[in-house]
Amino acid sequence: MDGKILIVEDEQRLAGILADYLRQAGFKPHCLADGRQVTPWVRDRRPELILLDLMLPGKDGIEICKEIRAFSDIPIIMVTARVEEIDRLLGLELGADDYICKPYSPREVVARVKAVLRRSGGQQTPHAQGLVLDEPGYRARLHGSDLDLTAVEFKLLHLLAAHPGRIYSREQLMERIYADRRIVSDRTIDSHVKKLRKKIAAVNPQQELIRSVYGVGYKFEP
Ligand code: CA
Repeated sequence: MDGKILIVEDEQRLAGILADYLRQAGFKPHCLADGRQVTPWVRDRRPELILLDLMLPGKDGIEICKEIRAFSDIPIIMVTARVEEIDRLLGLELGADDYICKPYSPREVVARVKAVLRRSGGQQTPHAQGLVLDEPGYRARLHGSDLDLTAVEFKLLHLLAAHPGRIYSREQLMERIYADRRIVSDRTIDSHVKKLRKKIAAVNPQQELIRSVYGVGYKFEP
């Protein structure tokens, strides 16, 4: 944890205020104003979290979010000027971790940054609710019982559990799980999730670890 936070914001005054607050909270903020600079910077510098404004010169926040999600799970908080926009953004299945609406209080933004980092901090040890994942061995145990997963089921569970609460679209799951996407369809993911849930239910019927989000995709229940 080096505390590097990328603020993407073209309103310089706002970016400056936010940077000050984040610095006071012990983070190391860096500001970018032009949308075209963001993806190369992220590839190169690997921040811990990105605050991403939607409307930017050069390239908009939606495009940037898609670009970053194609190669990284870095937490992203999208910032929008209109509260109505949030519904639309959710529908686009961008894979952002949180949404903040302007005008905001910098204090609140800092609190949200901390909350998102806390949530994604479970990344190394996704051992929620009796679940133990042994990555090299592709083995998953729930309350001590082996779930006996296939490689694909394990990858699905591992990915979802690494970011509890984050909604993944079928498209995003396919991109991350299959090297060769030509051979799979949306339904393939659904059928793997179905089998995975069945195996989880066989160990503990009360525990719904993987929840489907209607019309969007799946998430791991935090
Ligand atoms: Ca803007």
